[in-house]
Amino acid sequence: DEVVPDVLDSPIPSGKQPVAVTKEVLPRLHLIDEQQQFSEQLSKFIADKWDLKEAGFNYNVAAVFGSQSTGKSTLLNRLFGTSFDVMNETARMQTTKGIWMSKGRDMKVLIMDVEGTDGRERGEDQDFERKSALFSVATSEVLIVNLWEHQVGLYNGANMGLLKTVFEVNLQLFGGNRGKEKTLLLFVIRDHVGATPLANLSNTLKADLERIWHGLSKPEGLEDCKITDYFDFMFTTLAHKLLQPEKFDSDVDKLRLRFTTPSDPNYVFQPQYSRRVPADGLHFYAGGIWDKIMTNKDLDLPTQQELLAQYRCDEIANSAFATFQEKIKEFRQPIESGNIVEDLGPKMQDIRGAAMKSFDKDASRYHAEVYKRKRTDMLTKANTMLEAYFLGQLKNLHKKAVNMFSTNLQNALRLEGSEFAVVVAASKKEVLDYFLQGAKAIKLEETEWTYDEELYQLEQGLQEFAIAQREKELNKMLTTLEKHLRKELDEPVGLALNNPGPGMWGRIITIYQRTVEDGEVLLQKKARTFDLDEKEQAELILNLRRQAWVLLTKKIQEESVDGMMLLKLRNRFEEKFRYDEHGLPRVWKPDDDIDTPFRKARDETVELVPLFAKINTLDPARGEKFELEATEDFDFDQSLKVLSETRQQELTTKFKRESDAFYLEAKRSVVATQAK
Ligand code: GDP
Ligand code: MG
Repeated sequence: DEVVPDVLDSPIPSGKQPVAVTKEVLPRLHLIDEQQQFSEQLSKFIADKWDLKEAGFNYNVAAVFGSQSTGKSTLLNRLFGTSFDVMNETARMQTTKGIWMSKGRDMKVLIMDVEGTDGRERGEDQDFERKSALFSVATSEVLIVNLWEHQVGLYNGANMGLLKTVFEVNLQLFGGNRGKEKTLLLFVIRDHVGATPLANLSNTLKADLERIWHGLSKPEGLEDCKITDYFDFMFTTLAHKLLQPEKFDSDVDKLRLRFTTPSDPNYVFQPQYSRRVPADGLHFYAGGIWDKIMTNKDLDLPTQQELLAQYRCDEIANSAFATFQEKIKEFRQPIESGNIVEDLGPKMQDIRGAAMKSFDKDASRYHAEVYKRKRTDMLTKANTMLEAYFLGQLKNLHKKAVNMFSTNLQNALRLEGSEFAVVVAASKKEVLDYFLQGAKAIKLEETEWTYDEELYQLEQGLQEFAIAQREKELNKMLTTLEKHLRKELDEPVGLALNNPGPGMWGRIITIYQRTVEDGEVLLQKKARTFDLDEKEQAELILNLRRQAWVLLTKKIQEESVDGMMLLKLRNRFEEKFRYDEHGLPRVWKPDDDIDTPFRKARDETVELVPLFAKINTLDPARGEKFELEATEDFDFDQSLKVLSETRQQELTTKFKRESDAFYLEAKRSVVATQAK
C-alpha cells in the first residue's frame, strides 16, 4: 500500500532544488484501491507510521474533491507536506484511482486525496464518485473543493455534478440531524488572475450552490431544509502556480494556517464538524462505512458510531481485563490453601481501579451510552472474578474464627473458677468481631457482595461448638463424679455385706443416700459454671441417683456371686462354730457336744441366705421405703433381686456340704486328742 513516488512535488519553496529533500517522506496509504478494497493497514498506519494511536479526538480529517488535473495533489503536498502522486507534466499519465490517505507533516491532520472522483470528466460511470463522496462526507470534517477560476459560474460544469452528489449523500447521512452535524466546504479557486475579486467569485458560487440545493429532491419531512442547515462555506483563491510562483507560495502558506492554527479566524476544524471518532477506532469506523457503502446498505452514522463503540469498548475492555486477570492471579494459591490474604480488600480495590481507569481512558471517548453499558459489563465481570476471592477469604476467616473460638474456650476453661457461659459469651464476641472486621475489609464498593449468610453460619457454628463443648465438659465432670461415687460406695458397701445381719440393707441404703447427697452438692456447685437450668439440673440429679444405684447394685452383684457368698457363709459359720463367744478357737474335748453347736451354727448361717435374696430398701433415717422411677433401660424392681429361689437353694446345699467337712474335722480333732 505504501508507495514512495519517484517525483516529489513536496512543500519545498520554489527555486530550490528538489534533490535537496532532506525530510523523510511521510508514508501514505492506498486506503481504497482500484478494486475498491479497503486497506487492512489503516490501524497499523495510525499506530506506527503516523503516531496517532493515543490521539483520541485530538486529530482531524479533511478530504479534497475536484475535477481531474486541477492541481489537487499538488496543493495537498504543498499544504501538508504529503507525497501524493502528481500528474507528470511530460507523460500526462493518469494517477492511480482510489482514495489515498496521509498525515500532515507536524500536524495531527489526516488528509484524503480522492482520485478520479469526477467520473464525468473521465467519461466513466459515476458509481465510484458517489461511493467516495459518501465515504468522504462520513469521515471528513472539511471537504476542500478544488476548481479553476474559469470553472466558476459554469453552473452545468463538471464540478457542479460532483457537488450535487455531495449534497445528496450529506442529506442521506445527516438529514435527521439538521443543524447539529455540519460539514465545511472550503472552495479553493486556482489560478486566480485577480481581475474578479473573491467576493464576486464566491457570490457566483453560492448562487450556483443554492440552485443545486433547490433542485435536489429532499427526503420526506425535510422538504424545506436549507443548505446552511448542513453546510458551512469558505472561499479562498490561490495565485497561478507557474505565472506567480512566489504569490502562489505565500497564498499556500496563508491557507495552511487555517488547518494548523486554532486561533486563526478562518480555522477550519471547528467542533461542530467533528465525526466523533477517536483515532484508535478510525480503522473500524471507516472500514465499516466502506463495507456498508460497498454492500449498498443503508448507511446511518449513529448506528456506525454505536457499532464502533461496541467494537472498540470490547477491545479496550478485553485488554484491560487481561492485565486485571494477570494481577489477581496472585491471590488464588494462598486463598485456596486456606490462608487469609493480608490487605486483600485494598489490593483488590487497587487492581480493579487500575483496570477501570485503563478502560475509561480509551473507552470514554466512544458513544456515551455504549461506553456506559460496557463499563457496567466490565465492572460486573471484574466483580464476579473478585467475588471468588471474597468468598474464599470469608471461608478462611470463618475457619480461623472457629479455631480461635475453640482455643480460647479451652484456655479459659483450664483456668480455675471460670464459668462456661461467661467464657463462651466473651469468646464469641471476640471471634465474631474478628470475622466482621475481616469481612468488612474485603467488601468492595460497587458490589452486591454480602457476608450476612456467612456471619449467620458462623454464629450458628460457634453456638453448636459451644454446646458440644459444654456436653463434653459436662461428661468429663460426670465421669469424675462417677469415680467419686464408686469410691464412696465400694468399700463401705463391701464391709456391710461382709458383715451380714438384719441391719445390713439399712446400712447400705444409708451409705447410698449419703453418697448421692454428696454428689448432689458437687453437681449443684458445677451447675452454676455450666449455666444449667432447673430442668437440666433435676435431670442430672436423677441420673446421678440412678447411676449411683447401678454402681451400688453392681457392687452387690459382685459380692453375691457363688464364691463370695460361700465365703461369707463359711466365715459366719466358722465364727459361730469354730470360735467361742470370746472369739477364741474352740478345742473339742471327748465329752463335748459337737452336734448341737454345729446344728445351731449351721442353721443360723443358712438363715442369712434369704437375707441376701432381695435388697430391702427401707431407709432407716426416713423410715420409709426408698424407690427410683424405672426407665426404658433401668428396671428398679429387677435391680432389687440378688439371689433367685434356685440359687438360694443351691447355695444352701453347697454350704451345708462344706459345713459337713467342718463337722468331720471337729470330730477327728477329738479322736486325735484321745489317741495321745
Ligand atoms: P490532480 O489530478 O488534481 O491531483 O492534479 P495534479 O496535482 O496531479 O496536477 C495536475 C497538473 O497540474 C500537474 O502537471 C501540475 O504540475 C499542474 N499544476 C499543479 N498546480 C497547478 C496550478 O496551481 N496551476 C496550474 N496552472 N497548474 C498546476
Ligand atoms: Mg491527484
